[in-house]
Amino acid sequence: MSGRDSLTLPRIGALRVRESWQERFAETPDVLKSSIRPRTIVRVRDLDIGGGEFITMAGPCSVETEYQLMVTADHVRRGGARILRGGAFKPRSSPYAFQGHGLEGLKMLARARESSGLAIVTEVMSECDVPMVAEYADILQIGSRSMENYTLLEAAARSGRPILLKRGMMATVADLLRSAQLILDNGNPNVILCERGIRTFETSTRNTFDVTAIALLKHISHLPVIADPSHAAGHRDLVAALARIAVAADADGLLVEVHPDPNTAWSDGEQSLDFAGFDEMMAMLDPYLALRRLAHSEPAGARTLEAVG
Ligand code: PEP
Ligand code: MN
Repeated sequence: MSGRDSLTLPRIGALRVRESWQERFAETPDVLKSSIRPRTIVRVRDLDIGGGEFITMAGPCSVETEYQLMVTADHVRRGGARILRGGAFKPRSSPYAFQGHGLEGLKMLARARESSGLAIVTEVMSECDVPMVAEYADILQIGSRSMENYTLLEAAARSGRPILLKRGMMATVADLLRSAQLILDNGNPNVILCERGIRTFETSTRNTFDVTAIALLKHISHLPVIADPSHAAGHRDLVAALARIAVAADADGLLVEVHPDPNTAWSDGEQSLDFAGFDEMMAMLDPYLALRRLAHSEPAGARTLEAVG
């Protein structure tokens, strides 16, 4: 606080004027970091999300063909991804755009898991589909447009599968945490938060990548935080730069769209990396990940909310 501020802000005896983060997010106590719960590690097959390793989830926006999915799975696995993404149920901006292959897409994802060994994350859009999607997916993705669909969240929570909860494009951090709290309340502690960009007055990019939200979520919540630079940028040229920023902001991993031929992609081609672009992004991340490992090996990383409040 500057000398000037200290003259103008009210000071009532020993009372603190600044609200603590715990007071501000008091409505969602179970998602907040504490000395008893400094972090949640979400176990997915042989992976620990939020456990220290930076986890890259990569793959096409939509599952299109068996060939497209298989070659992409193989490429991203060799490039260091640990989880394959791909939409079988697609929320689209236009009602006339491709809506996904549904069950056939889920079956393709399962075959890609078998051949690549990668775990699978895929979106579920309707509570009616939760049992079917949960049968095939290792992680259920709740998309930006569904973040506040509490009926869907409850059904997804009760499936027992880990949930990748994407921030609504017009949702505040408090809104996101309310949805996470609801999943926890329904008996599922395995929630992964995802910052994927929000709508602002800026129109040059598809969304505005809210890096402050990543820093804030890492500061106040014990839940792992994943960054999606693809939907934030909307342009493939910017994806690698945003991925580097995500590492520096201490995200636990990335969700990134990759396609063998983005110009012919059935959805989100303009923001999808081709294979060379993916390799380049991963190579550029290397020195940042080395720094991250160094930072994580220092004891300061273990501080809790009470300590930093
Ligand atoms: C997606 O991951 O392809 C997607 C539709 O994301 P969002 O819900 O963030 O728009
Ligand atoms: Mn997409």
